[in-house]
Formats: sequence, structure tokens, C-alpha cells
Amino acid sequence: MQAQGCFRLGDPWPPNGGLLWLALLRLHLGISPAPPLLCDPVPTPSMTSQPSRDRVAVITGPSGVGKGTLVRRLLERHPEIWLSVSATTRSPRQGEQDGRDYFFRSRQDFEQCIADGDFLEWAEFAGNLYGTPRQSVERNLEQGPVLLEIELEGARQVRQSFPAALQIFLAPPSFEELERRIRSRGTDSEAAIARRLERAREELAAASEFDAVLVNGDLEEALGQLERLLGLA
Ligand code: 5GP
Repeated sequence: MQAQGCFRLGDPWPPNGGLLWLALLRLHLGISPAPPLLCDPVPTPSMTSQPSRDRVAVITGPSGVGKGTLVRRLLERHPEIWLSVSATTRSPRQGEQDGRDYFFRSRQDFEQCIADGDFLEWAEFAGNLYGTPRQSVERNLEQGPVLLEIELEGARQVRQSFPAALQIFLAPPSFEELERRIRSRGTDSEAAIARRLERAREELAAASEFDAVLVNGDLEEALGQLERLLGLA
């Protein structure tokens, strides 16, 4: 599936604040400036009407950028999309439920699942393991569109198994804002925050690998852009 509309990579340079920031960040990080660019929204084939293996979309972005909130809003408006529930070795945060937010597993159990080939992809992130259960994705793909909300290494692995999947990167309006959002969750230790911020720099540097980059400044605006990318608006 080719990403069309909204923010694409590799088109002429646009006057866009959020994307300008991303380009500056790339320069700051010493990455060649190949900024994602703005073009007019172009209607895409709806992800609901694709053949089953093409109905996968991946959303990636640094921890704290607001992927969870954006995805929740998307699912409220499009309940036909199935969001994969990942397994993780991290401890539940307050309010999180096993089987709804994550499958919370011991490291030993998780490693057994890796050995058994139960994950479509898995990665270590900030000291914990995260993985997408293979079977439930394959089963749900028979029924309709599937969305994965995962980090960078996982997204790279999914490119091998589902090359047609639309890969979307969600970026913050600024690095300072990202740090503010992570801290305001109040759930992570100082060491965990430092690990997440370090990883965020690596993830932001990889934004140009993705089919499209959305800047999550205003939630409703980002939601509209996401819907257009998925062919839902
Ligand atoms: P958190 O601990 O904040 O819930 O998640 C940390 C990071 O792990 C986030 O970037 C989230 O998108 C990512 N993540 C969640 N589930 C998975 C998964 O199944 N696979 C991979 N690779 N990353 C995941």
C-alpha cells in the first residue's frame, strides 16, 4: 500500500511548522535533511476495503507522543478497526488491565513465547519486552482492518512480514513538549524517563523510514489526518 495524502516523505519543501521542527531536529541530530513534506490530501483506498493482508496499519512514535490517545479516538469513531493487544514484561500502570491494555507476562513466559514463535514481532524497549501476538492478528485480519501500535524495532520487523502495511510515524510538536508529556504522566522513575527520552531521539531520527509522518500537536487535527491516511475520511 502506498501512503498518499497528508504528510508524505520526499515531496517538495513545504512551509509547515511541525514538520519544519522535525527537519530541524534531523539537522540537530546530524541526519541528512530529507524532511517529510506536506501535500494536499489525496483520497486513499479505505483500509477496510483492502485484501486481507494489506489491511494492516502500523503506528509508531516515541513514548509519550500520544499514540494511545490518538488510537483510542480513532477506534471510538471506527469500531470496525481491530487494535492488537500486545504482550509485555513491564508492570501494569494504574488503571491498566491484563488482556485489555496488555497481556502482562513474566520475562520467563515472554521468552518462552519468543522461542515458540508466538510473536509477529517483538522488541526490547526501555528495559522491558513487548510483542505482538501472531495468532490473534492473523485471525482478526480475516475479519477486517488491523492496527498495531508499536515501537520502531517492531515496525521494522512488520515491514518484513507485511510489506504492504501502511506505516505511520507520530511525532511530537517539539522535543521539550515530548519530555513534558512523559513527565506529566507521573508513572515513570527518573531513570525510566531518561531511557525513554534517549530512545525517543533514536525513534525521531528514523521518521523518514515511514510512509507518512503526523505531528501530534492538536489531537483532533492529527485524528483527521490519520483518518485521511487510512482512507476513512
Ligand atoms: P508503554 O510502556 O509506554 O506502554 O510502551 C512503550 C513502547 O512500547 C511504546 O512505544 C509502545 O508503542 C511500544 N509497544 C507496545 N506494544 C508493543 C509491541 O507489541 N511491540 C513493540 N515492538 N512495541 C510495542
